[in-house]
Amino acid sequence: MLQKRTKIVATIGPASESKEVLEQMVEAGMNVVRLNFSHGEHASHQVILERVREISREKNQAIAVLADMQGPRIRTEVKAEIPVEKDTEVTVSDIAHPECSAEILLDMKGISDGILPGHKILIEDGTIELEVVERNGECLKTKALNKGLIKNRKGVILPDSELELDILSEKDKKDLHFAVEHQVDYVGLSFVGSAEDIETVRKEMRAIAGEGVRVPKIISKIERKVAIANLSSIVKATDAVMVARGDLGIEMPTSEVVLLQKRIIHESLSSAKPVIVATQMMKSMTENPHPTRAEVSDVSNAVIDHTDAIMLSEESAMGKYPVETIATMSEIATKTEESPYDDVYRALHLNFRNEFSVLVRSAYEIAKSFNAEAIVVMTESGLSARLLSHFRPEKELLVATSDRRTWQELALVWGIRPYLYEGVTAIEEQKQKLLASAKADGHVQTGDKIVLFIGRTETDERMKLVGIQEVR
Ligand code: PEP
Repeated sequence: MLQKRTKIVATIGPASESKEVLEQMVEAGMNVVRLNFSHGEHASHQVILERVREISREKNQAIAVLADMQGPRIRTEVKAEIPVEKDTEVTVSDIAHPECSAEILLDMKGISDGILPGHKILIEDGTIELEVVERNGECLKTKALNKGLIKNRKGVILPDSELELDILSEKDKKDLHFAVEHQVDYVGLSFVGSAEDIETVRKEMRAIAGEGVRVPKIISKIERKVAIANLSSIVKATDAVMVARGDLGIEMPTSEVVLLQKRIIHESLSSAKPVIVATQMMKSMTENPHPTRAEVSDVSNAVIDHTDAIMLSEESAMGKYPVETIATMSEIATKTEESPYDDVYRALHLNFRNEFSVLVRSAYEIAKSFNAEAIVVMTESGLSARLLSHFRPEKELLVATSDRRTWQELALVWGIRPYLYEGVTAIEEQKQKLLASAKADGHVQTGDKIVLFIGRTETDERMKLVGIQEVR
């Protein structure tokens, strides 16, 4: 009995924060809860986090928690709203330069240093475009390229400017503290520009957690032009990736977003890093009980591209139909996965080769050749399960671990059905327990062939491919 293999990430907000709705969302197919730190207080995030952990224990179901940092978002500071027409002149600077008496101040000190004549300044999701025509020191003269109303505290994107953005603002540092202390599974990094950004955050988390303590895995959000330029090194440095199509579609031409999505997915999968496609997947369901045909097509195509997960933002955070949206997404994913267009029978390319990847690939090939019903993986860190997932096996991928964090983390990864046996570290006992649970869940039956892969043996740390076995 194969269920949906593409995972669903849902942002939680007023529409979905009650325990009752969260439970229904899990039933409908939500695998990962996203807490958006651009909104809300620590106290409210903590309440949701505790509810999710409670549901996970009650249902014995792995649910990962993603704390998504706001990151270095630049915002406008205006004394009064400024109406503009095409070609209206507007002066701009940043808060370090009050001497410019600019109409718009950008709220990041020194940010105007990198903005040169010809560069665009995009305000409020790019709905208002300004172009710099002249620079006098740090004071910028711009002209509006379209009609609009410039408001206070609106997001600003500077797609053409070389910016030295600190990956963590003071707010992010506090939020990161919260995330590490509350042991969330993943941290989302907004506006990542380079591999060094990822290392900076990892170091910061290790300093907060203390020596040897496990820190959240990092999901790098690809949403800047510079991140596209540095994609390979970012993917190499990160633990997972998000195609953050909202901001990406402002920094880059909207017409290229789907092509970039395909490239980012391909690059991530080649490096065996989980990848999430985010933003506006089911946007119309924020208001309506049914998606548009284009949204169905978008979700279906992301599944065909073999993304690990698809994400909901306002649809589940503040929409009218959070549960129905997840149920609809699950249905689209399942139908697409069952169709011949989802060609998982072709093993995905991996751009590295080491003894682990060769062994994992062998397990995948044996399962395929012998038409095994499942690959059964025993793992503690989750690495072998993640590697196996990245070959996208057609049949079940049943994973046992004694580590709760690993169990939760694997909720994000394509096709993995994670089982938790805390305190059970003996391989044979774990295997027997997993097979009993999988039989009870209908994922395998007596007489089925399985391929057994042990990510960690009791005697050493190396992986071991045991080969074909029969379920008794
Ligand atoms: C995005 O820009 O697509 C995104 C997911 O980021 P956020 O929702 O944090 O702006």
